[in-house]
Amino acid sequence: MIEIPAEVRYLLDRLEKSGYEGYLVGGCVRDALLGIVPKDWDLCTCALPEEIVACFFDEKQSLSGFRHGTVGVILNKQLYEITSYRTESGYSDGRHPDTVAFVRDLTQDLARRDFTVNAMAYHPKKGLVDPWNGRKDLAEGVLRCVGDPTLRFQEDFLRILRGLRFAATYGLQLEEETAQAAIACREGLRQISAERIQAELVRLLTERGTGRVIASFWPVFAVLLPECGEDERRWKALSARIDRASNEVSVRLAVLLSDSDEAEAALSRLRLSNKLSDEVKALLRWKEDLSMPLSVSVKYLLRDLGVSLARFWIDYRFTLENRENLRRSRIKELERVLSQKECFCAEQLAIGGRELKTLGLSGPRLGECLVYLLDQVIWGKTENAPAALRDEAYRWMENGNC
Ligand code: ATP
Ligand code: MG
Repeated sequence: MIEIPAEVRYLLDRLEKSGYEGYLVGGCVRDALLGIVPKDWDLCTCALPEEIVACFFDEKQSLSGFRHGTVGVILNKQLYEITSYRTESGYSDGRHPDTVAFVRDLTQDLARRDFTVNAMAYHPKKGLVDPWNGRKDLAEGVLRCVGDPTLRFQEDFLRILRGLRFAATYGLQLEEETAQAAIACREGLRQISAERIQAELVRLLTERGTGRVIASFWPVFAVLLPECGEDERRWKALSARIDRASNEVSVRLAVLLSDSDEAEAALSRLRLSNKLSDEVKALLRWKEDLSMPLSVSVKYLLRDLGVSLARFWIDYRFTLENRENLRRSRIKELERVLSQKECFCAEQLAIGGRELKTLGLSGPRLGECLVYLLDQVIWGKTENAPAALRDEAYRWMENGNC
């Protein structure tokens, strides 16, 4: 039923030859049932962590998750995670289980998992183990907690975000009680570390179904992004914009934060990477000067943001207003500038710092002269050719700039 890579068969075989039961579990079973090639193949087994280690003594291993019962086995440079069956209990902090116990029974292991679609195990000979009818839910497009949703979310509030992410990724609807509990438990997300939140949020924001999920579960997003307020109409408008924007995380964050005065505070609170946070700030800050010809403003956009962020800015800006014609004309002009290799940054000028030095320029004056020359070229007042730029530089110096 599920096509399994040879490496995974080998892992299962070896576990069995040593007398242990082994199964594929979680995301890979879910994805395979959906006809999606799984990103990674996770296994679970009745073997204890040290028994897994002994079983694969002659293979390269990664033991960073050993304490939680996970042993990584590396085959052909690919990591396969094998986790001992375990139960979890306690969760007094809403984040981590107080106690983890290894068990020999698969069903007990499946019971600790978050959603029915994630709580299935598969063995090529024994078939599917699916005590909570995850397969049926998957076929019907339903996301449902294993057990009482309120209790499951209270154990680990991050599951709320995971659930919304799975809904957005696979186009699932949260089952009624699961949906109600997700909203009711949302404040608990405040107990979760910024690192765990941001990893889930970044993924959740870049799915095809992100807008739909925001429209239905905006109160959850309002806990994470209080800057966006509590006004349902505003959130619905944001969700429509998100759906129009490309699924780039920087673009989508910029769309969410576009009419907030505290965007920077939100970005630092979310502990995004510096790169991502700088990108979002750049998208939010850049303003087009409508009094300039389009070809000029597009070149300034390219100069200031670089090629890929410039494309994102156009996407972000015209998504906000739903002005598809404006978006298209800017993209077309940007692609024209790039394909005709027209100059938009100092590095592309046909004159360099070294030549300007021979004209007697140095230090900040030299930098200013380059800025001036680039402006001249961008506005089409000077040809981007060495002789023309040299003349222009002389003129600039003669005009009292030196
Ligand atoms: P993907 O890797 O595509 O994000 P996944 O379902 O494989 O999806 P992982 O985070 O890799 O997600 O987790 C693997 C499995 O572990 C899940 O399918 C689920 O059964 C279980 N799991 C992960 N995180 C939790 C959690 N917070 N609470 C309960 N079970 C979890
Ligand atoms: Mg996974």
